Amino acid sequence: MDSSCIFCRIIRGESEAERVYEDEKVLVIRDINPQAPTHLLVLPKKHVASADHVGEDSGIWSDLMKAAAKVARDMGLPEQGYRLVVNCGRRAGQTVPHLHVHLLAGRPFRWPPG
Ligand code: AMP
Ligand code: ZN
Repeated sequence: MDSSCIFCRIIRGESEAERVYEDEKVLVIRDINPQAPTHLLVLPKKHVASADHVGEDSGIWSDLMKAAAKVARDMGLPEQGYRLVVNCGRRAGQTVPHLHVHLLAGRPFRWPPG
């Protein structure tokens, strides 16, 4: 845990967020600045700075992706399609240095992304 990290503070319940789903390893919250009608963030409860900091043996990706797919299914998103995004590093758009998967849905998505 990193006391200066906003997502760690949310995970500990010290900062407010709309909590959508939680299990032992993962918390899913609603993004405060949504880029689509549905915009959720899938967070590992353990502080990991970015995709580049995930250990090779870690099951963290499996935990995050399983939670993302479960929440998407529970919200009926597979029929309309949804997008999962991980920004790694400032030049790729990462602004919060705690690993997170964006789950976006509710509008068409272009390819390639900007
Ligand atoms: P990224 O730019 O990929 O690092 O994504 C960080 C995301 O976290 C952005 O979409 C922000 O809108 C979102 N965000 C930042 N602070 C909060 C917060 N306190 N509660 C919910 N979402 C947040
Ligand atoms: Zn953190």
